[in-house]
Formats: sequence, structure tokens, C-alpha cells
Amino acid sequence: MRLNPYFKEEISRELKDHSILMCYQCGKCSSFCPVFNLSPEKFNPRKLIEMVYIGAEDVLKTEDIWRCTTCYECFENCPQKVNFVEIIFLLRTKATERGYAPKIPMQELVLVRKEGFSVQISPRAKKWREEVIKIGG
Ligand code: SF4
Ligand code: SF4
Repeated sequence: MRLNPYFKEEISRELKDHSILMCYQCGKCSSFCPVFNLSPEKFNPRKLIEMVYIGAEDVLKTEDIWRCTTCYECFENCPQKVNFVEIIFLLRTKATERGYAPKIPMQELVLVRKEGFSVQISPRAKKWREEVIKIGG
């Protein structure tokens, strides 16, 4: 794994509140996280922060950063008020800029730009919606 000694500073500098620097790895975020509780082997917010701390920039290539539901449970229970959701948004932005975003979110982005929806709407559903709108006046 390639380590970038400047990665933590880069992330901290780009966060509005620099709260990532306040993390002392207690793991409370993970214990309150619904995704961690469902599949601890696939997603662990405390570990994600640790990866940023050690400079493991390859975290941007992992699917882990896309598993957070942004529910804010971790933030509400963090003794240091580390804003994990802000961190995850930044990591996702960086991953997307570098072309590492997984296919599904990228496909959704293309669809939203093209159709205005994040899922493909069938011609039948579109017609039905137009009729409902007409009836609704
Ligand atoms: S709860 Fe807060 S301080 Fe503890 S590991 Fe998570 S982010 Fe760090
Ligand atoms: S915001 Fe993300 S990391 Fe935090 S508790 Fe919710 S799912 Fe877990």
C-alpha cells in the first residue's frame, strides 16, 4: 500500500472545521454506525479515519467510502465532534475527481444530468406519470 505522508494534512486543510484532527480513535462512531453493525467486515468509520491518518491514500479506491448512509449517528455520538459525514463527502469528491468512483454512482450522475432521475424510468412509467400530472391539473 502506497502511503502519502501529506494526505491527512491535505484532507484536514480542505475540511471546513478540521475536525478530523480531533479523532483519538476511540471507536464510538463505529459502535453507533448502523452500517458497521450490519457488516463490520465491510465498513468501519474509525478505521477509515485511521487510514487517512496513516496516509493510506488508496482508501479513495475502496468501495468503503461509498457505504456510509450519511445518517450522522457517528457525529452525534463522537466525544470529539468529528464530522465524519463531511470527511466522507470530501473523500468521495476526491475519488470521483481521480476517476475511482464505482460504476453505479457514476451511472446515476449521468442519468440525473440526462433525465433528471437517478434511476432509469421506463417509457410506460413516464407516460403514466404524464397522465397523472394531467389529471392533477
Ligand atoms: S467517535 Fe470520534 S473520536 Fe472516536 S474514533 Fe470515531 S471519530 Fe474518532
Ligand atoms: S454517517 Fe455514515 S459512518 Fe456515520 S453512523 Fe451514519 S452510516 Fe455510519
